[in-house]
Amino acid sequence: MQLKRIEIAGFKSFAEKTTIEFHEGVTAVVGPNGSGKSNITEAIRWVLGEQSAKSLRGGKMNDIIFAGSETRKPLNVAEVTLVLENEDHFLPLDFSEINITRRLHRNGDSEFYLNKQACRLKDIVDLFMDSGLGKESFSIISQGKVEAIFNSKPEDRRAIFEEAAGVFKYKTRKKKAEQK
Ligand code: ATP
Ligand code: MG
Repeated sequence: MQLKRIEIAGFKSFAEKTTIEFHEGVTAVVGPNGSGKSNITEAIRWVLGEQSAKSLRGGKMNDIIFAGSETRKPLNVAEVTLVLENEDHFLPLDFSEINITRRLHRNGDSEFYLNKQACRLKDIVDLFMDSGLGKESFSIISQGKVEAIFNSKPEDRRAIFEEAAGVFKYKTRKKKAEQK
């Protein structure tokens, strides 16, 4: 499984639809302060189901929609699509390419799509749970995260290892079953 491409439109500083291709090996994004590098990783976390506006450096979820600039009017929709190559079926779906889209309208309407089919947030979260790629996973380490891991409570730190070891999914299901 490999991240192939991300398409960003109307998300934060990306007013114009922007496509970023990822090839084999390392991809580095460079640019001056404030040019949108962190916004790319936030777009990835957002499309994977991030629900916390604060962790996307906003006050409310609407803040991720392009808010306008000196030369451009604000937009009313943000849309991000992540394209993953899944030839090895690492993600448990019968597709060799997986497209995930999230869209948010300024009026609060929100949509998720899995290979162009409307789906729920839960479908996306379940697909990535224990894959090491979910929004809570440590495949994305933001500024300040390393320190947060060191300073976290032992049980929270244990959850990190459980996600990595693949047992987190079963614990979540057990908890849900016990609540019913
Ligand atoms: P640094 O090198 O300082 O880490 P960076 O390249 O990571 O910078 P980002 O933090 O990704 O930069 O981008 C910040 C820019 O995104 C700011 O200029 C901010 O105004 C812009 N921005 C954030 N949210 C929005 C929004 N909703 N609409 C328009 N622009 C936005
Ligand atoms: Mg940054």
